[in-house]
Amino acid sequence: MKPSPSSRRGRASREAELLVDLAEGLAHSGSRAEDEFWEPRLSEAVLGLIGQGDEGSLNAALDRLAERESRAYEELADAIEGIIESGESRHSRILRGDLSALQDSELLLFAAPLLVWSRLPVPTKTIDAAALQTLRTELLGQVFGAGAEVSLVNYLFSPDQLPETFLDTLELRQALAASMGSGQLGVDTQKLAEATQYLADQRYVLGLVRLPAGAPIFRWQDGMLSRDEVLAAWRKSAEKVAAEILPACAVELLLPRAYYVACREADRAARPFSVRASVAFLSTTLSIRPDQIKVVIAGCYSRQLEEYRLGFLVPEVEELVHGVVWPLLGSEDDMSDIGEQIEAALREAGIEDIEVLSARLPLEYCEDCGTPLYPNPDGELVHAELPEALDPSSRHLH
Ligand SMILES: [Zn+2]
Repeated sequence: MKPSPSSRRGRASREAELLVDLAEGLAHSGSRAEDEFWEPRLSEAVLGLIGQGDEGSLNAALDRLAERESRAYEELADAIEGIIESGESRHSRILRGDLSALQDSELLLFAAPLLVWSRLPVPTKTIDAAALQTLRTELLGQVFGAGAEVSLVNYLFSPDQLPETFLDTLELRQALAASMGSGQLGVDTQKLAEATQYLADQRYVLGLVRLPAGAPIFRWQDGMLSRDEVLAAWRKSAEKVAAEILPACAVELLLPRAYYVACREADRAARPFSVRASVAFLSTTLSIRPDQIKVVIAGCYSRQLEEYRLGFLVPEVEELVHGVVWPLLGSEDDMSDIGEQIEAALREAGIEDIEVLSARLPLEYCEDCGTPLYPNPDGELVHAELPEALDPSSRHLH
């Protein structure tokens, strides 16, 4: 799996310094009354830069706060992402004295993520009109509050194809707003990046929801249903159309939510999902039990720890037969308890033989095909692939 762009933001100006100061001010505020001083000022500064197309200053300020490991990073990220997803908040406009906000409707860019695995390449594709209509109906019936209107993009995105920058994301939200009458937005598939192929990966249905101002956006907000109940209802109602869109794939639907949080949750959920998918894939393809599989785990470093890689071994085959990348997300680093999370995910999938290498390995890729290399029990990074005799659908030819 590959994290969505929102999980890998990680650059300079006086404008950036102002954002840093306002976000620090808000992060250190000790009262609601002080928040109400900082919030509209931060919001206005962000809006000003977005209006000028100055993405560089936004990222520069985020980078500076990330380096300081400041809580203000979250405040600034929230302010930027909130404006990209739904425009300036009513609250902030009211604080600025802009009373036209009172009769506005609320808009929210959202994502409905799917975790998918298949022996065949996991597709990215145009969603046909009938399936898109079914998805809209089920989102309106199961997920969004009364009085909602929804427009969906007619494409199933891979993480590589999501809008790369804040401004690209804003452009998508504006195009969706203009498409609200027809309920669907076509995309120029020529402009989309090619998706890297993994056994298991995230896919996204993207859309915009519009509601009267102040109305509950999601069904769990009216107090009748919990998030888990909304998720269960969404899964039950959309399972069939998801299977039609993704034939020959195992699909797990995640909770549709605001765009950025939905993408981050999908990145997080995709890590143990990739482990489960790999174990299911190897046990069915090779007719073996999960407890016959051995997994070697190693941390891979460039300047710092970037990701863990998992090499899979099976009985009677000397070489690695499969590999999984477990990327670090958000503020995770080598102090986080990721090793424990990986081991727990492996044990849950039925793996008992787990070897954790203490050596720091480099972040290496195959020079021929660019695929990540995975650790073997000797502590070397090697190509992982199923012997062709065992895997008729083998995709690697070297
Ligand atoms: Zn290769």
